[in-house]
Amino acid sequence: MIYLAHENREYSSEIDYAFDILMAGFVPRPVLVSFADLNRISFRNNDLVISYGKKCEGNVSAHRVHIYQGNLFGKNYLRHNSLPVKPLNLIDGLPVVYNSDQRLEKSVVITDNGKWKFIEINIDLIASTYFQITRYEEVLVPQRDHYHRFPVQNSLASQESYLQIPLINAYISLMEFWLGKCNPAISRPLPWGKHDFAACITHDVDTIEKFRRGNSWRHIAKAAISHRDPFEAFERMAARIGWEPYDTFKYILKLNRRFKLKSSFYFLAGENEKTRLSYQIDSPRVIKLINRLKQEYEIGLHAGFESFNDVLKLQEERCRLEVVTGLPVRGVRQHYLRFQVPLTWRYQEAAGFLYDTTLSFPEEEGFRCGICTPFQPFDLEERRKLDLWEVPLTVMDGTLFDYQKLGLDEAYERIRMLVDIVRNNGGVFVLLWHNSMLDEKKMPGIRGLYKRVLRYISDMNPLTGSVGEIVELWRKQCREPART
Ligand SMILES: [Zn+2]
Repeated sequence: MIYLAHENREYSSEIDYAFDILMAGFVPRPVLVSFADLNRISFRNNDLVISYGKKCEGNVSAHRVHIYQGNLFGKNYLRHNSLPVKPLNLIDGLPVVYNSDQRLEKSVVITDNGKWKFIEINIDLIASTYFQITRYEEVLVPQRDHYHRFPVQNSLASQESYLQIPLINAYISLMEFWLGKCNPAISRPLPWGKHDFAACITHDVDTIEKFRRGNSWRHIAKAAISHRDPFEAFERMAARIGWEPYDTFKYILKLNRRFKLKSSFYFLAGENEKTRLSYQIDSPRVIKLINRLKQEYEIGLHAGFESFNDVLKLQEERCRLEVVTGLPVRGVRQHYLRFQVPLTWRYQEAAGFLYDTTLSFPEEEGFRCGICTPFQPFDLEERRKLDLWEVPLTVMDGTLFDYQKLGLDEAYERIRMLVDIVRNNGGVFVLLWHNSMLDEKKMPGIRGLYKRVLRYISDMNPLTGSVGEIVELWRKQCREPART
């Protein structure tokens, strides 16, 4: 058995949650108990206690790992002065968000009395995990960009250069290593079968027409005469008779078949977003498209620009999309990646979604929540774990091209590196590629790059599925610790 115990009653919801994240999927399944329970348990061989507290109290006749607590869960919790002190310390090259205040000779001290091992960890792994996964800093740091998004440069991960490290997965691997020293039978099997990781290809359908309302003869003539761009005139004319540069769905499906990958498509279904909505979800053309895609692929909601802080909008949009698909809509990604922690998660839960897959920074790829595996978010304000899954977005096309202005080869290298990182951590690689980002006229060579990216992902042999399928697999196998 693995027992988890801590003594902090005031912050037990928060600490239990961080234990859930760090210890999910371990076999045998850990059990959360109180410090008092530890005195009543008669331990057996190979039992292991993981405890968390300012002091390592109580005698335990079993292997023990003790994590020394720092100062996050105390009087300064959710105050500005509880933010981590920079620069961060490192352990094995890994940033440590919160230290404990114990004075041990090393970060990790292992003693062995011949019968049991005792491992003292002088890093507050619980608080560090909690900080990163709840997006704690986004609640405390007020800066926002012009779309009311938390800017990447205000994140600790960017300031301390660890955005491309899935820190929590690295902490979990450290735990696995230390626990294995106590009992080699402890394991953490992943739900990917013979695959090292999972990959989800996703597409936000922001628009399906390149020249919205711009295909009149007047527009065509203007392109040809005033802009002196015969190709644009030709494109507008072609779009007029049904050849549409942003209708790249056939191409996407063809490549999926070729590389044995699966996509999820997220459609906008808002009603009153005149300036930002380029199609109506219930127009015959979109219904036809969705009917074609839903035979093979998951259809989720690309929640509208104004929906991230409006639960009614989220509910309405989900309903409107369900009427069109005739199926339950389980997944959501917010348009422009607009997100307010923890409110958007809470509203997505209330609107009945199974999962969100928004959280990456628009300006820089990587691991905004410090993790590359699915998790249930924690609502810092209501102090509870939500009935919703987050499948963190790894990289969006626009991040590389629109924000960072990378060339095709540089973009390929960035994506390749991220695939490798996620693979090494047994995570879920989530790629966002807009259907409109396969227009060769706008970006020559883009289709070749997309093909190279898919080929690389496919060569790495991931388990592929819709995001919804991946969440189902994960939640079945990687259960959190049990509570007594
Ligand atoms: Zn969008």
